[in-house]
Amino acid sequence: MVEEKIESLKEYARDYNVPIIEEDSLKYILDYIKDNNIKNILEVGSAIGYSAIRMALVNDNVHVTTIERDKNRYFKALENIKDFELESRITLVFNDAFNVNLSDKYDLIFIDAAKSKNKEIFKFFEKNLKDSGMVITDNLKFHGCVEMPLEEIESKNVRGLVVKIRDYIEFLKNNENYDTVFIDLGDGLSVSKRKDVL
Ligand code: SAH
Ligand code: MG
Repeated sequence: MVEEKIESLKEYARDYNVPIIEEDSLKYILDYIKDNNIKNILEVGSAIGYSAIRMALVNDNVHVTTIERDKNRYFKALENIKDFELESRITLVFNDAFNVNLSDKYDLIFIDAAKSKNKEIFKFFEKNLKDSGMVITDNLKFHGCVEMPLEEIESKNVRGLVVKIRDYIEFLKNNENYDTVFIDLGDGLSVSKRKDVL
């Protein structure tokens, strides 16, 4: 049963601390794919393949290309994709995203990799976005840290990430080529629609 397999992926993620997307924000993305007849998706950050699998399961027209640089997670993702028999609709790339040069264009780019690199990833793959395509980014709330006053955040590391995420949010707000909305579901999503070129 597909539902049971999905549950066991979630369980694995819980047991091994794999930061898979939360259900609420995932549901928003799946609805968007369904409602807009999205066919070609690029995902940056596969982890164990959970979100790629969920997106591919929306319908048979969906194809996901997904990139992962961590070897263990890549192999786990490979195994999971096989288990769901989705090898023909999910292309898994084992590499650092910044080494991946794609020529295809995608309806949707889902950025869910290193939180500090959102802006760089956005810019790097912008050339692969269709004219009226959409970029969705996960974890913009960073578990509530993004809204906290910096001086209340003890970890220097976390402070650094918060500064980066805030900078990315400003970058999106000020980017005139996109209309961006921020969705308060799960760990926070940004949804940036490229404006039609007139
Ligand atoms: N999208 C997944 C979760 C991804 S977790 C899901 O919801 O199911 C983020 C993943 O991004 C991690 O596994 C990490 O190894 C990977 N990652 C981070 N930076 C990356 C980069 N520059 N290139 C490729 N993968 C990256
Ligand atoms: Mg995420």
